[in-house]
Amino acid sequence: MTSGQSLSIVVPVFNEAENLSYLVSRLNMVCERIRHEFGIDTIHYVFIDDGSSDGSFDALGTLDYAGQGVTLLQFSRNFGKEAALSAGIDSATDADAIIMMDADLQHPPELLVDLVRVWKTEGVDSVFTYKEHRRASEGVLKATLSHIFYWVMNRGARFSITENAGDFRLISRRYANALRLLPESQRFMKGLYGWVGFAQRGLPLTPPPRERGTTSFNGARLMAMSFDAMTSFTTAPLRLMALAGLVIACVSAVYGVYIVVERLFFTANSIGIASVLALMAFFGGMQMIFLGLLGEYIGKTVLEAKRRPPYILAEKRVISPPATDAAASAQTEISS
Ligand code: UDP
Ligand code: MG
Repeated sequence: MTSGQSLSIVVPVFNEAENLSYLVSRLNMVCERIRHEFGIDTIHYVFIDDGSSDGSFDALGTLDYAGQGVTLLQFSRNFGKEAALSAGIDSATDADAIIMMDADLQHPPELLVDLVRVWKTEGVDSVFTYKEHRRASEGVLKATLSHIFYWVMNRGARFSITENAGDFRLISRRYANALRLLPESQRFMKGLYGWVGFAQRGLPLTPPPRERGTTSFNGARLMAMSFDAMTSFTTAPLRLMALAGLVIACVSAVYGVYIVVERLFFTANSIGIASVLALMAFFGGMQMIFLGLLGEYIGKTVLEAKRRPPYILAEKRVISPPATDAAASAQTEISS
């Protein structure tokens, strides 16, 4: 390797066949700029096909990468975007910096130049992008739920998860090394980014609407993911549960004393059966919710205890850049 720095661009792909050629041609142009402006001489693409059913993997094999080295990874099935990102980071061990971005062009390739610039000039270990005008683009309900999510996530933790920060980011070599150390198989990347620490810097981004294809994350999936993330990253909900129990117990105790005093010293008017039933149903419901939450935490420990790998590779193809070695321009290797 030469003395210049190397950059890897990690892109998870799930049914994005119609976006790929446009994405790659825009990336190729941006890479040209990055090479000249910042003296980065090795740029390598890592595409992870997360179990696509629309031929995305084959399409990736036919594109023109204009001199960039490429690693194509194919999962044995759909493991999710978080697993795909992990696979990309795992494979980019040579890179001085890794950039992660979506394949659907909602993360404009042109912004890569700014990410690299901030990394080079400010020396931070992570340059992330954050959504600026959330409310306008997504509606009040989603924005409020997202706000509550981050509030709970950041309760009492020593590290914080930056609100509205996306997966479009650059990380340094040591930051990537730190991520590779984390053993969990349920990987909520935004949480892991926060946990790892290091100096970071944010750049505002207003994601354009998806041009082709459809989003894989609808409202229900986002809610499920948020709940999953919450229970795998913070035990704050358990504390809140205990706190709620304490408050209810105290209030009931005071009320109990009040009833006894009223019965002994004042005219007691008996409480109707309806109010007793309502209270029973209320506390029954509360207990079910709390048990369910507790079960969620226990389920997480069961899943992690199995120590399954976060993803399974079906195929790995490395296309080396023609400039460095013309003879081995397309070397294909199948991993087991
Ligand atoms: N993606 C993936 N696995 C999945 C779902 C999505 O690798 O199970 C990829 C997808 O191809 C895209 C990125 O993750 O590159 C973001 O997905 P999407 O655009 O559907 O999400 P949104 O932008 O709505 O958050
Ligand atoms: Mg998208």
